[in-house]
Amino acid sequence: MNGNSCRASKRTNKVTSTILKSFRTVSIPLTMNLSYWEYKTWLSNIDFTVVGSGIVGLNCALQLKKKHPKAKIVVLEKGLMPQGASTKNAGFACFGSISEILSDLKTHSQEEVLKLVQNRWDGINTLREILGDSILDLQLHGGHELFLNADKALYEKCISELDIANELLYPVFGSDAFKLSQNSFKFKGIEQNYISHGFEGQIDTGKMMQGLLKKVQSEGITILNGVTVKSFQDNPDVVAIETNAFSFSSKKLCIAVNGFSSDLIREKVKPARAQVIITKPIKNLAIKGTFHVQEGYYYFRNIDNRILLGGGRNLDFESEETIEFGTTKLVQNKLADLLKEVILSDTPFEIDYAWSGVMGVGKQKKPIVKLLSNNVACGVRLGGMGIAIGTSVGRQLAVTFE
Ligand SMILES: Cc1cc2nc3c(=O)[nH]c(=O)nc-3n(C[C@H](O)[C@H](O)[C@H](O)COP(=O)(O)OP(=O)(O)OC[C@H]3O[C@@H](n4cnc5c(N)ncnc54)[C@H](O)[C@@H]3O)c2cc1C
Repeated sequence: MNGNSCRASKRTNKVTSTILKSFRTVSIPLTMNLSYWEYKTWLSNIDFTVVGSGIVGLNCALQLKKKHPKAKIVVLEKGLMPQGASTKNAGFACFGSISEILSDLKTHSQEEVLKLVQNRWDGINTLREILGDSILDLQLHGGHELFLNADKALYEKCISELDIANELLYPVFGSDAFKLSQNSFKFKGIEQNYISHGFEGQIDTGKMMQGLLKKVQSEGITILNGVTVKSFQDNPDVVAIETNAFSFSSKKLCIAVNGFSSDLIREKVKPARAQVIITKPIKNLAIKGTFHVQEGYYYFRNIDNRILLGGGRNLDFESEETIEFGTTKLVQNKLADLLKEVILSDTPFEIDYAWSGVMGVGKQKKPIVKLLSNNVACGVRLGGMGIAIGTSVGRQLAVTFE
């Protein structure tokens, strides 16, 4: 084969395209100059296409395979790796700190809040069953909410309503979820006690995603990276899908793009960027557990003798309502100040990395899992709880067509 074949095939493709259009036949992927083999092997006779390889998309693909063992399933992911929130998060296996629960009770009924927490608890347990605690690197050190001195009023409200929250959540945990504990890690500038949640844990986010990816691949599901779905058209018995690289058809389409939803669908999901920093390893770091500050707008944990700290979206909601990755001085300075003044006030530290991820949020905390048309469904709006609910949202998405 000589070097002219590439140019020649471009010409051939153009001609083929014209002929195909005139016969109104199925569209063949032309943009990437795909071969017959590539098209036949990867992009024809597809039963289910999943958009997004985050925790929801991967769980959806696994559940589809379980329900339809013979189905041909493909997952399309725009990033070289999953590129939304699932590989960027803080790895809290959490159910809502006390101030979050009390705040949710202002906008949701008691039954709704109970159901949200039950779903988180069930979701974590399902994730543990699917991957196992050692792959997740699950550590059950408990979680704690700290109250800055400036938030004394919130602290007092939470203490006064501790029994109400415990009573509400008793059916989920079978014992009191929240209790007061001493400031054993000697954080500075905070009220005397933490309100701790004994059932909260932490995972290694990277290991979770690697475990899920391996599982999906071992089930014979194809994942194509670097493919952005641009648009789709639900025709009576097939969905025509247009990507940055090729067009093809699939019997069903499952959309799991969370914070990036507004690019593809009309559901009410706002992007919410969240910024994170991590320190270099710190000798003899005693801090262990997951910590929430200011109604969950800040959160930190230990990992590999480092402190990972995220949050600060509340400093400038408008600028953080974006799908652009990046960090801002305003948020990064605030995170560094929190480390210096509250978390590691007596310990020298250096910041090693900073990054951001994009969540999908809305007025209601309930995720949106629904059929959008005969052959297209979505599972989106996971807020800041995707580790807990991502598995069940993915599983529900997989059965929306039934
Ligand atoms: C900084 C941060 C910290 C967090 N901390 C926690 C925590 O500690 N505990 C917790 O439970 N939750 C946490 N979350 C939330 C949690 O990570 C998310 O709720 C969860 O990961 C959402 O999963 P998902 O699969 O719905 O979305 P994503 O993980 O965002 O996956 C969507 C995927 O779709 C891809 N995609 C988007 N558009 C297209 C397209 N057009 N074509 C192809 N692919 C596309 C994206 O690249 C992405 O990989 C945090 C989130 C962030 C950002």
